[in-house]
Amino acid sequence: MVYNCTLFNLLFGYAPLCPACSQVTDKPRHFCPACRNSLATISNPCKKCGLPIPQGSHCGRCLTHPPPFEALISACVYQFPLSPIIQQFKFSARLYFAYPLSQLLADRLLQDSGRTWPECIIPVPLHNARQRQRGFNQAVELARPVAKRLNIALDHGSCTRHKHTRQQASLKRSQRQANLHKAFSLRRAISYRHVAIIDDVVTTANTVAAMAEMLRSHGVETVEIWCIARAL
Ligand SMILES: [Zn+2]
Ligand SMILES: [Zn+2]
Repeated sequence: MVYNCTLFNLLFGYAPLCPACSQVTDKPRHFCPACRNSLATISNPCKKCGLPIPQGSHCGRCLTHPPPFEALISACVYQFPLSPIIQQFKFSARLYFAYPLSQLLADRLLQDSGRTWPECIIPVPLHNARQRQRGFNQAVELARPVAKRLNIALDHGSCTRHKHTRQQASLKRSQRQANLHKAFSLRRAISYRHVAIIDDVVTTANTVAAMAEMLRSHGVETVEIWCIARAL
């Protein structure tokens, strides 16, 4: 099917083209079926941390040191051709990639039958300085269409990141944890019992674990982590 509104859509940021191959897709604003099939997924993820395991339901580390969240669910693995798309979305403000990326996650979540949905979705906040520099928070842009499709409330105002954390990648493990200590706090009281945190890419999971810990200290019983891509 050819869209005669392609120019309009491109001009107004609603490109119907596949973000990976730039071809017109059968479903506007989605990855085309071929590119979608080329995106790597984790076939047997640990039910807690989401990392691949050869067999069973939980990795050894989660059995001995369970993380402060219930489950980490990622749509895909962070690798080509997804990685440059996420980088362009974040660093070149290609905001029209948010929708197709968000649908990868929504589709993944809808695959599970009988799941209990959270009361709300909380995107990982950016520190004010980072948000001013970037002009948007990528996690909010991804969370908005996911919340809409799953009909779950979106709360992007309650949680704040009040310390300008240094780039995690440049730090050692112990420094990373200290760096994240008390990085998140609440602007107002919350009464949720079950929430999902959304981020674009999860690498070490230290950031989302710090946020989950903070939410649990405020009475949230179950915290899930949802992300577009998991770096392995
Ligand atoms: Zn494609
Ligand atoms: Zn695990």
